[in-house]
Amino acid sequence: MSYDESLSSDQELERFMNGLIRRNPGEEDFHQAVHEVAATIIPYIHDKPHYRIPHILERMTEPDRIVTFRVCWEDDEGNVRVNRGYRVQCNNAIGPYKGGLRFHPDVTLSTLKFLAFEQTFKNSLTGLPMGGGKGGSDFNSKGKSDREVMRFCQAFMTQLSRHIGQNTDVPAGDIGVGAREIGYLFGQHKRLTNEFTGVLTGKGLSYGGSLVRMEATGYGAVYFLEDMLKEKGTTLEGKTAVISGSGNVATFAAKKLMALGAKVVTLSDSSGYIYDPDGLTEEKLNYILELKNVRRGRISEYAKEYGVKFVEGKAPWEVPCDVALPCATQNELNKEDAEALVKNGCIAVSEGANMPTEEAGVAVFLAAGVAFAPSKAANAGGVAMSGLEMSQNSARISWAEVDLNKQLRDIMGKIHDTCVLYGREGDHINYVKGANIGGFIKVADAMLAYGVL
Ligand code: GLU
Repeated sequence: MSYDESLSSDQELERFMNGLIRRNPGEEDFHQAVHEVAATIIPYIHDKPHYRIPHILERMTEPDRIVTFRVCWEDDEGNVRVNRGYRVQCNNAIGPYKGGLRFHPDVTLSTLKFLAFEQTFKNSLTGLPMGGGKGGSDFNSKGKSDREVMRFCQAFMTQLSRHIGQNTDVPAGDIGVGAREIGYLFGQHKRLTNEFTGVLTGKGLSYGGSLVRMEATGYGAVYFLEDMLKEKGTTLEGKTAVISGSGNVATFAAKKLMALGAKVVTLSDSSGYIYDPDGLTEEKLNYILELKNVRRGRISEYAKEYGVKFVEGKAPWEVPCDVALPCATQNELNKEDAEALVKNGCIAVSEGANMPTEEAGVAVFLAAGVAFAPSKAANAGGVAMSGLEMSQNSARISWAEVDLNKQLRDIMGKIHDTCVLYGREGDHINYVKGANIGGFIKVADAMLAYGVL
């Protein structure tokens, strides 16, 4: 591939994407995540030959390393079960690979490549020394007993442990991997290596975890939203918020929104959404936490408990709101959903999940002047707190909740500043462009410093 100076940015983007699609056939989530980045980075580096000539973007889109492995375990009836495990080590130019593990039946290599690529930019934006990685399995924990989950996690870690380490690659949780799974994974790693190190983050508080880690992604997404509204000259006070999801990110985003004076009227899971026009309260939120984390039940039970509407099989984007936080999963908000939100008066969107908005939906928000925070900026609070957990583990100390909260608030504020710096277009901020360029520069400069690697 030679460098062709005569191409326009659009031609360069087309050439670049054609090559990427040819090299990674059928990996649509990965194509989407890369396209969103390339569409802003290619014009940015058009007049910067020091990035263009050494093909930095091409190198960033080719993961450093991918491992896949068989995970074999026994269920409670003694049947032998087989799953596939993965770790995508995307880029370690600025620090050890860092990123979660996702256990979900829909997980494919494409999912994890897109997540690892996004993670590289997100981690760079935090300002902390972390590279990008992601891993997981097509294991479905729904309907499995605790013992089955434990046996799966132990079998998974037996393979993964060859590839990770506190200075090499530090996994954490993601969809389907919460406190319970991290406990089993960390225990197995400790058993295999006879070492107690910060090789995973999101750990329990009694074995090296950090305060505020559980809350950090949701809180961070709300802090970012708060900063976007401030930029628009308003606050969260009295605003109506629509949230999708009911996991860690969604519930702690709801909690922080409530604390800042907003009214949260929806939550959802894969079966549908609940609409509570009076808004969540602390008591209702505690009910959800117990329902989802202890009983592992369905969100429809909330509707029965509090006598509110449950809308089956749909996402909550048809509900009128001022601000929206997609906190469930990728591509859960399409063009029509975005149009409905704009029509109903939504002024800001903060992505708690990774890439929840389809590219056509993002275009609708940008054209309508909605303040739109892409996930790599908005949900970086989780991995930022993981970075602080790594620091505490290395120093063998624990920081106080108030200090960690302050650090989280500062980091989200700085990410917002970075997005404003690189994303300003007249009196509007293009946060997609700002986050992509802001995340790119640090990684690209480190890669350049290393020469041809
Ligand atoms: N899975 C989370 C994310 O998407 C957290 C990763 C981590 O803490 O390493 O950023």
